[in-house]
Amino acid sequence: MLKAALISFTLYGYCSLRQQEELYSHDIRLLCLFNGETPSYGTISRFQKECLTPCMEDLFTEFNRYAEQNDPQIDSSVLYLDGTKIEANANKMTFVWTKATQKYLASAWKSLIEICEKLNAWLASNGFPERVSVLRKPDPSYLLELDALFAQLEERAAVKIVTGKGHRKHPLQKLHDDFAQVSVRLLRYAVYEDLADGRNSFSKTDPDATFMHMKYDYYNHTNVFKPGYNIQLGVRSGYIRTVYVSQNCNDIHDFIPAIGTYCEQYGKYPKMVPADAGYGSFENYSWCEEHGIELMMKYSGQNKEQQKITDKNRFRSWAFGRTEEGVPVCPAGHIMEWKRTGVSNAGLYQRKTDYYGCSHCRECPLRSRCTKAKGGRVIQICHELERMKAKVRENMSSDAGHEIMVSRSIQAEGTFGDLKENYRYSRLRRRGLENVKFEVLIVAMGHNIRKLNNRNRMSCPELERYGKLKEQKSEI
Ligand code: SF4
Repeated sequence: MLKAALISFTLYGYCSLRQQEELYSHDIRLLCLFNGETPSYGTISRFQKECLTPCMEDLFTEFNRYAEQNDPQIDSSVLYLDGTKIEANANKMTFVWTKATQKYLASAWKSLIEICEKLNAWLASNGFPERVSVLRKPDPSYLLELDALFAQLEERAAVKIVTGKGHRKHPLQKLHDDFAQVSVRLLRYAVYEDLADGRNSFSKTDPDATFMHMKYDYYNHTNVFKPGYNIQLGVRSGYIRTVYVSQNCNDIHDFIPAIGTYCEQYGKYPKMVPADAGYGSFENYSWCEEHGIELMMKYSGQNKEQQKITDKNRFRSWAFGRTEEGVPVCPAGHIMEWKRTGVSNAGLYQRKTDYYGCSHCRECPLRSRCTKAKGGRVIQICHELERMKAKVRENMSSDAGHEIMVSRSIQAEGTFGDLKENYRYSRLRRRGLENVKFEVLIVAMGHNIRKLNNRNRMSCPELERYGKLKEQKSEI
């Protein structure tokens, strides 16, 4: 079954269960594997879900180790990392926004407190000794308790339950009905908050998918958010070496877990991880230095810094000059003064930022073009980050570094291009993080098998002879 699944994904890039069922019943290669028997799509689905999904990552790593031994071109010291957002198998208009949910949850809570206060007033005016708490958090058990209390009170007060038009409801029944409506809302929003799990949004039809901007907007450039997953691929020599599926909209937070996954798979970190500007951050650079990885990730604004300084851009903070000690020099030629140092412990690593101000701004003729701040221009510099950025520029400016960066765009982005364009794999078919991970891993494994097969064919002596014959013929 595993061989058959791998053959189908190798042949078609992505192969649905129905397609596989058809393939197994017609393709002679697969008929031989099954001794003429044809498993149904249900059997294939069960096998993939129960047997393959839990061990797919191990199989993927094992195959890559095998490819490493059989393909001398694979160099594990460099890993090209890139990410893409792929649309989930979820519907477009099924979004739930966490901020809106929190707002609605607060308003439902307020309504519940009002109902409790009204109930207390009714209980007091009708001589009932019970009182309900308005301060207790409305968790499901408390809501059930209140519902039971309402039912008990209705029984004791001999309330006649009426429905439909033309009937006047008893005040207690009215309160009970309002309470039931608010409780449903409260529970729904509480479940939404749980499902979001810190994300800004999710889809109702695939709660693991997050709404994010995709490159391709087939809704006619309406800028509509679509549910999707962020797929990170680590590529080397055309082989997909590592796969990391995340729910983040931004690549910057995926660098550490993606390289961490690579280390778990192969037992070591790559020496270099060339990546685009989406990955360059203080945290990622610090982590790389800690784990002995060369800094080869671009940072945002790197291309801008290489621009010629003109009259238009000379007031930008990146265009400010520096003294030998790294203190900024403003466009009017004044050395700025250190004001204070801010320390942030928000991330994995402590970050210190120096604030520099200028005492000449008040009388400066360039002020209108430089700053609108009352206290004059302030520049923030993290010297540690500046040092790391300089290291990145140095690594990239060497001949080898330049070659690696050119190779990055061919290898990492080329792999996505091959899967998306040549094999039409631009949308996920499974729902849920675990299932999506399995799907991407098996598609990646199919890609790697194709790659290894192509390499073996290229190095086949028969083919080499055929190539030479062709060359000789063309010369004639
Ligand atoms: S406004 Fe202040 S910081 Fe800007 S150029 Fe003038 S003196 Fe320098």
